[in-house]
Amino acid sequence: MWSLHKGVLVERRLRIASPVLTRGKIVVNEGFLELTEPEQFTPVWNMGQLASDFAKAWDDEAAAGFAKKYGLLGLNPDCASASLSELGVTVEPLMYWKRNVGIVDALLHTWLYIRPARDGHPARLRELWPLLYSELSGDEVAAPDDTGNLITRAESTLSAAIAQRVGVVPTTFDFDVGLESFVFEWQPTTLLQTIYLDMALLITSGVELRTCQQCGRPFVVHDKRQRFCNDVCANRARYQRRAQRERETAAAIDGEGEAV
Ligand SMILES: [Zn+2]
Repeated sequence: MWSLHKGVLVERRLRIASPVLTRGKIVVNEGFLELTEPEQFTPVWNMGQLASDFAKAWDDEAAAGFAKKYGLLGLNPDCASASLSELGVTVEPLMYWKRNVGIVDALLHTWLYIRPARDGHPARLRELWPLLYSELSGDEVAAPDDTGNLITRAESTLSAAIAQRVGVVPTTFDFDVGLESFVFEWQPTTLLQTIYLDMALLITSGVELRTCQQCGRPFVVHDKRQRFCNDVCANRARYQRRAQRERETAAAIDGEGEAV
């Protein structure tokens, strides 16, 4: 059986077991992520962190960074070239990564904006609407004028999109000797399935999610005062504030000079 640190705990007897994934050396090569020197591992993450980290992997470099940590998505076995597999190289098109990052990001924002919409502030959900549909289906769908209708449709779109992508997750029900209890587990098989499962848990568990004030990406809140997704964004914001202050000071000095 899985020990407790190897999965995300919903409740002691109800949990997501970590999938067995493959990671290794990652290279970006002509629109593909290539994985070599594969080794199996079971990832550990905090609830919601996997989905929100993935939503930040917009460019090639960030995607490669995520793949280094967690491996490839395991989405399309057809994409892996047979000859390369024989050489121990597994490849995935960056196009598939970008498509899924776009979907996860749009779905997390939809979740973020549903609550304010329920509290009478539907503007951001309304603004997000065209992006959500273009990420999900490539279609342009106009937002419903009626706010109640907007919220209901956002909720059903969000749940259908996640349910479809989580797919059928294998489960186990077994007696855990260590816990002296029966345990029910979800056992995802691919990284992509785990990401969507993590998002489903994030949404149902009430873990707090915010939008980074610097890069606009969603992040899981660990500290109530947190306004940025990571140190890079916090430093960038600090630098921009300082540069702004310096410009204002310089402008004020120039102004004084003219007045004399
Ligand atoms: Zn950020």
